[in-house]
Amino acid sequence: MTAFSTGRGTDRPDDPYGGFNACHYTHGNPQEVAACRSILCDMLPGLRELVIPRQTHSLNVALVDTTPVGNLEDVDALVTAVPGVAIAVNTADCVPVLMADSEAGVVATVHSGWRGTAGHIVLKALDVMEQAGARRGRINVVFGPSICTGCFEVGPEVADVFMSEYPGTDDIVFKNYGERPHVDLRRAIVHDLVDGGIDESNIDCSAPCSRCNWTEWWSARRMGVNSGRTLSLIMLQK
Ligand SMILES: [Zn+2]
Repeated sequence: MTAFSTGRGTDRPDDPYGGFNACHYTHGNPQEVAACRSILCDMLPGLRELVIPRQTHSLNVALVDTTPVGNLEDVDALVTAVPGVAIAVNTADCVPVLMADSEAGVVATVHSGWRGTAGHIVLKALDVMEQAGARRGRINVVFGPSICTGCFEVGPEVADVFMSEYPGTDDIVFKNYGERPHVDLRRAIVHDLVDGGIDESNIDCSAPCSRCNWTEWWSARRMGVNSGRTLSLIMLQK
């Protein structure tokens, strides 16, 4: 199995498209995006297809069980049990979540921004993984670079959504962090995963903050939404 997130790798950090960017829908130069995809494909021996959906902050999970897949629209999570199918999501501060039951040979990648997180998209992805043969007790999870609590200032209406979706928690919404509330997106996802039957010791949330480290990882809060994206990918090998 191969799983990774791409770094920017740039000497032009102030350029909103300076660095590795394989995202086709945030107005990057199409030739540069194609070149980055070609580099990715060369890194993946046994690749049948690289699947990168157009994400829309939806709760839609696609099960990829046959190739070719082609262009997927309005999809924010992918699940596959097919070796050689690389499933990827693009993020810039949202949380990329990679999941695997390596014994069953079932993997998932999820784009979990605040809307997806509050809509519990990881639980939807777990359901699809289970349908594809995964067992929750065996699933390992790793988060990619994504925004930290200190950087994730939100409006009161967003804080209210999290308070109502995660009642009884005291480690997701922080009202005394600064002038505005702050949210720990990763913690909210961990709550969902544990509620969904994942062993907390199988969850690695140690990835760096994309906004604190914006020269290394894309950050929409730092660079604006018209900027490159970090790609997080997982692929089963035969
Ligand atoms: Zn940060």
